[in-house]
Amino acid sequence: MGNPKPMSANHLAHPLDFIRQIVADDLKSGKNDGRVVTRFPPEPNGYLHIGHAKSICLNFGIAQEFGGQCNLRFDDTNPTKEEQEYVDSIQEDVRWLGFDWDDRLFYASDYFEQMYDYAKHLIKTGKAFVCDLTADEIREYRGTLTEPGKNSPYRDRSVEENLDLFQRMRAGEFPDGARVLRAKIDMASPNINMRDPVLYRILHAEHHRTGDKWCIYPMYDYAHPISDALEGITHSICTLEFEDHRPLYDWTLDYLPVPYRPYQYEFARLNLTYTVMSKRKLLKLVQEGRVAGWDDPRMPTISGMRRRGYPPEAIRHFCDLIGVGKRENLVELSLLEYCVREDLNRRAPRVMGVLRPLKVVLVNYPEGQAEELEAVNNPEDPAMGARKVPFSRELWIERDDFMEEPPKKFFRLAPGREVRLRYAYFIKCVEVVKDSRGEVVELRCTYDPETRGGYAPDGRRVKATLHWVSAPHARPAEVRLYDRLFTMPNPGEDKDADFLAHINPQSLETLKPCWVEPSLAGALPGSCYQFERLGYFCLDKDIAPGGLVFNRTVTLKDAWAKIRQRGKS
Ligand code: ATP
Ligand code: MG
Repeated sequence: MGNPKPMSANHLAHPLDFIRQIVADDLKSGKNDGRVVTRFPPEPNGYLHIGHAKSICLNFGIAQEFGGQCNLRFDDTNPTKEEQEYVDSIQEDVRWLGFDWDDRLFYASDYFEQMYDYAKHLIKTGKAFVCDLTADEIREYRGTLTEPGKNSPYRDRSVEENLDLFQRMRAGEFPDGARVLRAKIDMASPNINMRDPVLYRILHAEHHRTGDKWCIYPMYDYAHPISDALEGITHSICTLEFEDHRPLYDWTLDYLPVPYRPYQYEFARLNLTYTVMSKRKLLKLVQEGRVAGWDDPRMPTISGMRRRGYPPEAIRHFCDLIGVGKRENLVELSLLEYCVREDLNRRAPRVMGVLRPLKVVLVNYPEGQAEELEAVNNPEDPAMGARKVPFSRELWIERDDFMEEPPKKFFRLAPGREVRLRYAYFIKCVEVVKDSRGEVVELRCTYDPETRGGYAPDGRRVKATLHWVSAPHARPAEVRLYDRLFTMPNPGEDKDADFLAHINPQSLETLKPCWVEPSLAGALPGSCYQFERLGYFCLDKDIAPGGLVFNRTVTLKDAWAKIRQRGKS
C-alpha cells in the first residue's frame, strides 16, 4: 500500500472482508447453530505489537459485529520463553485497545491433562508412536520438498510399548530430547508438516503456570486445534504462515473425539515500513539496549505506542483502513501516523510550548507587569472552550522563528520586521543581542499595545504568527523527539541479514530545557496536547512529581510524504 491516504469509497462503505464474509455466510446457512466464537491466542513470550492489534481487532471485532464471543487464550506451550510479565502486559494492552474477554481468559496449559489423554487416544488407535530418533535424525529422515521422507525405525512399535514409553516420558524417566511422540501420518506427503510431525517433546523446564508438574510439552500444531475444540471456537483465525499447517490442524481434530469441530482461516499478517514486527527481533532490541524497553515510544509495540501518545481509537481506525486480505503486504508507517494525527486533531487541546528557546525582551512593555490573554483550546471543537495564558515583558520564542539575514521566502521574525504573537500582540524586532562568539542570545522588540488579540485596528498585516511563552511564567520541560527506528523501509525483509545494521542512530533527540505554558503544570501522565505549530506531544508516564517530560507523538504534517513527493517530481 503506497498511498498514505487510501480513503477510497471502498473503505468508507466497509464491505465485508473475506473472513467476515465467511462468518456471515455460516450464520446465514445455520452452521455452528448460529454461534460465532473466535479467540486471540498470543504466546506470552513478548509484548504485543501493532501486528497483533490487527489480529485483535479482527477477532474481537468479528465477535462484536456478529453477536459472538472472543476468548483471550495464552498459547503457553513453550515454558522456556514464556513469562508472567508478558501475560500481564498482553492483558493490559488488549484492554487498552478497547476489547474485553469477560470471564473467558484461558491458557493452553489448562488443557495439558486433556491433551495428554488425547495423545494416549492417538496411540491406542495407531495414530501416534514414540520415536527415539534424535532431532538431527528426524530432520534427515524427513526428506525435502522434492524428495519423500523415510519411515522412522520406531514407527511400528506396538500400542503397548508406545503407551508405556509415553507414560514414562511424562514420569520424567528420560532426559530432554531422548524421545518424542509423533503422529503417524505419511512420510511421503507432499506437505512436510504431515510427515509424521512431532506432537510432544521432553523438556525438563519450569512452566510459569504449571511449575514442574510437566516435563513433556505439546507442540503448537497439536495444542492449538485441541484448545480451539475445547473452547468451542467456530472460526480459528490465524496468519498465512499457518496455511500449510491446516491439514495437520484438521487431521488432529478428525482423529480425536473432541467435543467440537472448529475450522481454521488464514489472513495476511501486517507488516509496517521502517520497523520490525517479530517478537524475536523486538526482544533483541530490548535485550541489547537499543531501545529503553518494550514500551520505548519508538517500538512498534502497543505499549510503546501508548507511551508515545497514540490513541487506541487511532490504532483501531488504522486496522480498519488496512483491511483483511490474503496477500502479503507492507503498509506505510505514514498511514498509521495519519490516523493518529486525525484523531488527535479532533481531541487534543492546543497549548504553546517552545522547544528551542530564544529570549525576547519587549522594551516598551512595563517591567513587572503581566496580563492574561485568551487562547482557544481547540478550534476543531468549540465545546473545549478557552483558557488564559500569561503575557509579560520577557518571552521565549522558537529560535527557528528568527533569522538575522532572512532569505526571500522567510516571513518570520527578522531585524526591523513585524510579526504576530498568537493570541497576543504584534511585535517588531529592534535589536539583536549577541554573545562574545557572535551567537544570537536575545532579541529586543517593541510591541504595539493597539494590537491586543493579534489584530491591528488600522488593518495593517503581518506575514507570520509565532507561538511563544511568557518567560517568568513558563514551566521547564524535557521534550523527546522520535524518528523512525530504522533507516530502510523493510529492515526485516532479509531474514538472515543483521537487521540491527539498519537502525537509525538519530531516532531519539532530547531537548532540554524547553519552556511550556503554565496551564500544563497539572497535566496528567499520558495526556496528549497539540503544541501549536509543532506537533502532538504526550506527557510521559514516568515523570517525577511536578516534572514535565513530553514525548512527541507525531508531527503536525506528514513531512515524509512531502519529501517523497518532491523526490519523485
Ligand atoms: P511474531 O511472529 O511477531 O513473533 P507470533 O505470531 O509468534 O508473532 P503470537 O503470540 O503467536 O505471535 O501471535 C498471536 C496471534 O497474533 C496469532 O494469531 C498471530 O497469527 C497473530 N499475529 C502475529 N503477528 C501478526 C501480524 N504481524 N499481523 C497480524 N496478525 C499477527
Ligand atoms: Mg506464534
